[in-house]
Amino acid sequence: MESLNLVLFVVEAVAYFVLMVTLLHFRHRLGLGVFLTALGVMHFMETYLAAVFYVSLPFGDVSPGSSVFFSGKLMMILMLYLWEDAATVRQPIYGLFLGNLLTVGIAWVLQLHQPLQLSSNHTPDIDFLKEMGWLMVWGTALLYVDSLGIILLYEKLGDFFRRRVVLRFMISGFVLLTFDQVGFFAALHFFLDVPIAVFWGGWKAKMLSVCLYGAMFAIYEYRIRRLGADAAARSISDVFGDLTFRERYNDLLERTGRDMLTGVYDRTRMELEAPLMLREALRQGLFATVLIIDADHFKDVNDGYGHLQGDAVLKSIAARLGTTLRSSDRIFRFGGEEFVAVCPGTSHEEGLLLSERLRWTIETSVKTPDEKPVTVSIGVATADEDGASFTTVLAAADGRLYEAKKSGRNRVVGRSSSWNPVSPPVRSGGAEDLGA
Ligand code: GH3
Ligand code: MG
Ligand code: MG
Repeated sequence: MESLNLVLFVVEAVAYFVLMVTLLHFRHRLGLGVFLTALGVMHFMETYLAAVFYVSLPFGDVSPGSSVFFSGKLMMILMLYLWEDAATVRQPIYGLFLGNLLTVGIAWVLQLHQPLQLSSNHTPDIDFLKEMGWLMVWGTALLYVDSLGIILLYEKLGDFFRRRVVLRFMISGFVLLTFDQVGFFAALHFFLDVPIAVFWGGWKAKMLSVCLYGAMFAIYEYRIRRLGADAAARSISDVFGDLTFRERYNDLLERTGRDMLTGVYDRTRMELEAPLMLREALRQGLFATVLIIDADHFKDVNDGYGHLQGDAVLKSIAARLGTTLRSSDRIFRFGGEEFVAVCPGTSHEEGLLLSERLRWTIETSVKTPDEKPVTVSIGVATADEDGASFTTVLAAADGRLYEAKKSGRNRVVGRSSSWNPVSPPVRSGGAEDLGA
């Protein structure tokens, strides 16, 4: 008997998942309303079953209502969020919440009726209406928290393993359904004296459901959805398919404002961000140093080796800048072979040391195709000593770059003195890629 129940349990979970995911999969063709309505209808049955219908499984007595349908619904909410966005998933979350409260309210009113007996073998089912009581209100509140929780947890797990979607899906399910089981059982135990064994049975059944749903989710993700995406040649959605809406948005944001050739931020981004970076540093009582880096005699590189080789040299200059600067520093491509670096929390002296390190790193590691060193000149200026706005500081740095060019190139010029040490100094806090 128990094993038959177990088989039926698995069949129910598979049927629920396959049917609901089919509706979700074809939502663009059918309309999302079909999926949402089905979710709501199944939800009603599940709530009722959780109150009155329990069966014996090898590991305990469980309600298929709460373990198959409730768990399934929560996973469907997460999947809807994954493929749509927060604005869409909000609708069933609010809808289920309000729908439940309305159901309870209406059920209370209905109980005031004196129902008719239609025939001798059909007695009116008042017990059914009585089940729509405070336990359902409690379950409703839990469902609301569960829905938000499963989405937030899935998002949070993205910080640790972004592309492991199935793992994130399953961990979120395990955690939130455990939370739900504790919450719901606490009410059953304290108010209805339901024994602890029911807690464990129900919990194991929910965990089993998550395993089943996780496995089917994996099959769907890797076997069906991706193939479908390939067939429709939707390359963008394929690339971003695994990510949540917020992650896709952040990805897009990361990609916009990047210079195509070198991958550093572009000039538009500089106009937007550099003034803010300076203002924020000054607000915190810190210096912020701005560098302008210009390749020396770059026309000769282009003329001598062609533009493509010139491009390759620019790329390696940008790469050296990227590895030498701190993560809080930002590099922008200012013009053709000119870069601007904004370094918050960096004094003028630190900025000069850093610039010298950059100059030396580029001179010793960036080469033309015939192994001639490529050099840069750097102008350095610092807020607020050279001005409080980005424009004035940049202008000061630009003036010093001009001086560096005039006085022979391959050098760093800061306020009032040309910086020309004998050996390459190291900026405090990081000697990691010196000589890289
Ligand atoms: P210097 O700065 O030392 O005075 O000399 P320069 O030869 O570098 O002079 P200038 O700054 O006037 O010239 C910049 C050259 O950079 C001109 C242009 O052909 C080249 N350039 C600008 N953008 C690109 C690019 O995206 N790719 C390549 N290959 N070359 C570029
Ligand atoms: Mg130049
Ligand atoms: Mg130039």
